Amino acid sequence: MKIYKLPKVIRALVFDIDLTLYDNRDYDEAQKDLLVHRLSEYLRRPFEEIAKEVAEIKDEFKRLNQGKELSLGNTFLQFGISIDESVNWRRELFKPEEFFEPDLNLIQTMEKLQKRYKLNAVTNNPTIIGRKTLQALGIEAYFPHVIGLDVSGESKPTMKPFFMLSEKLQISLNEMVSIGDRFAVDLELPLANGLGGILVEKISDVYDLPTILH
Ligand SMILES: [Mg+2]
Repeated sequence: MKIYKLPKVIRALVFDIDLTLYDNRDYDEAQKDLLVHRLSEYLRRPFEEIAKEVAEIKDEFKRLNQGKELSLGNTFLQFGISIDESVNWRRELFKPEEFFEPDLNLIQTMEKLQKRYKLNAVTNNPTIIGRKTLQALGIEAYFPHVIGLDVSGESKPTMKPFFMLSEKLQISLNEMVSIGDRFAVDLELPLANGLGGILVEKISDVYDLPTILH
């Protein structure tokens, strides 16, 4: 875990979902594969060819942007696939319930955290997939607000979902903490806009949050 900044007063936590609230790399890889498959079907070109081009676009972006990751949603824009279309594909293809079981440690963690903070999730997946993932992990009830790509209309890194939450909750940005597994995607912009930021490197980092924050 890396703690970049913690506000004096914390009223809301904003979690990324994928690879933050679970460790299952198989699921994450499966998601990417399904999307690239769908893209190759859509373009009527071989999967291997498209997979190679996707990797090249991401590598090139990384090289030109100090190692920053380009999200798959933003990569697909370059193939002419709108964010709306990406959302539809994800909604149709992803089945988090087939990969996850309730995580008792995580449930206990959220039970503790929700007593002190408003818990929120922001994801580059459609809201319904984010909710299904939280549900499969057993923690959906703790998250009244989940903002997915279909609601924000912009793929992270973007401040849009954080602004939306701030307005919805009537909590200022500098009383919120963003928690995620990728600095450039989940933390960099929030930190620059006054939020606190915590980088999660393994799932047990999340289990430690009640101790770290209280
Ligand atoms: Mg993530």
